[in-house]
Amino acid sequence: MKGFAMKKIGETGWVEKEIPACGPLDAIVKPLAVAICTSDIHTIAGAIGDRKDMILGHEVCGEVYEVGSLVKDFKKGDRVLVTAITPDWSTVEAQAGYSMHSGGMLNGWKFSNVKDGVFSEYFHVNDADGNLALLPEGMDPIDACMISDMVPTGFHGAELADIQYGDTVLVIGIGPVGLMGVAGAALRGASRIIAVGTRPKCVEVAKIYGANEFISYKNGPIDEQVLKMTNGKGVDKVIIAGGGVETFSEAVKSLKAGGKIGNVNYLGEGDNVLIPRIEWGVGMGHKAIFGGLMPGGRLRAEKLGSLVSSGRLNVRHLITHVYEGWDQLPEAVKIMGEKPADLIKPVVRLEK
Ligand code: NDP
Ligand code: ZN
Repeated sequence: MKGFAMKKIGETGWVEKEIPACGPLDAIVKPLAVAICTSDIHTIAGAIGDRKDMILGHEVCGEVYEVGSLVKDFKKGDRVLVTAITPDWSTVEAQAGYSMHSGGMLNGWKFSNVKDGVFSEYFHVNDADGNLALLPEGMDPIDACMISDMVPTGFHGAELADIQYGDTVLVIGIGPVGLMGVAGAALRGASRIIAVGTRPKCVEVAKIYGANEFISYKNGPIDEQVLKMTNGKGVDKVIIAGGGVETFSEAVKSLKAGGKIGNVNYLGEGDNVLIPRIEWGVGMGHKAIFGGLMPGGRLRAEKLGSLVSSGRLNVRHLITHVYEGWDQLPEAVKIMGEKPADLIKPVVRLEK
């Protein structure tokens, strides 16, 4: 089979590999559509270290090609949602409620990290009964790709920030992840959503998902702008889906005492996250900071699939660039790296 791989840091290209072997609990799946992620770009740039000829990609909708002898609920030909994070559900970490860290910190993240990803004619899914979900009737595979990562990650930001009815919420970063943070905050009942970002297309879509006010991080520190907009009070909750290690300082300063920060941003650079002593209440401000990898798995995919197929969440606003066929995959990856002003999410449709 052919796959589109990271050949080494900074270099991508096509590779030929054997179709992966299917263990008794596993499935082998053929992609119907794939989406490119900012995390793929971080990975190519070396954020998780060097990899040789590792197939990229973790956002996908597919058709089951083979299942292992112990798989109960899926069969060849089923069209499926697949989450970017595919935990080992029998581990103690999963039993403790942290399936994304099954077998060790971040170890639920397998595609294009510890094994080949989904940008290939066939890919391997561990624990198929726990990590696949049937594609809801009538759902377009390109929409289904948003349920792999963008929806669960943005929504996890809203969960980690513990958004409550009536909260004033700051969402830092409105790329596709932050946009789903906005949508998640709105669904959880936020009354006021202040969004941080500059790309006009993202601002337009953030309004659709429920953001009321906007800040540009290019116009000075975010916290100064937030305090001005909130009469010096600050916000109840912050979702971080953009920026860097310095953004935590701005988030803490923007927050009321007792507030919560939910970070889903992937910190690709920097050694330390700085927490400002005074604004953190000299250690006693009850300002909580949570950071998490998205939860994956079947239950989450089924629920998010229902949210989309019921019409409560329209993911199509995220999809700005649609490519057709494997030949166009390199172009889709390239454009994700360049992030032109009108881009939110590029997808590649592989089969009807
Ligand atoms: P994008 O690059 O599309 O969006 C980033 C956003 O952050 C943009 O709105 C950008 O603004 C804004 N931004 C850039 N610099 C700053 C700054 N200094 N201060 C504040 N905001 C800033 O990324 P994605 O939405 O695709 O992904 C967001 C992050 O989530 C990535 O790091 C990605 O790797 C990570 N991720 C995490 C996962 C998880 O499980 N936790 C899973 C998937 C992704 P502008 O409009 O100017 O571009
Ligand atoms: Zn992703």
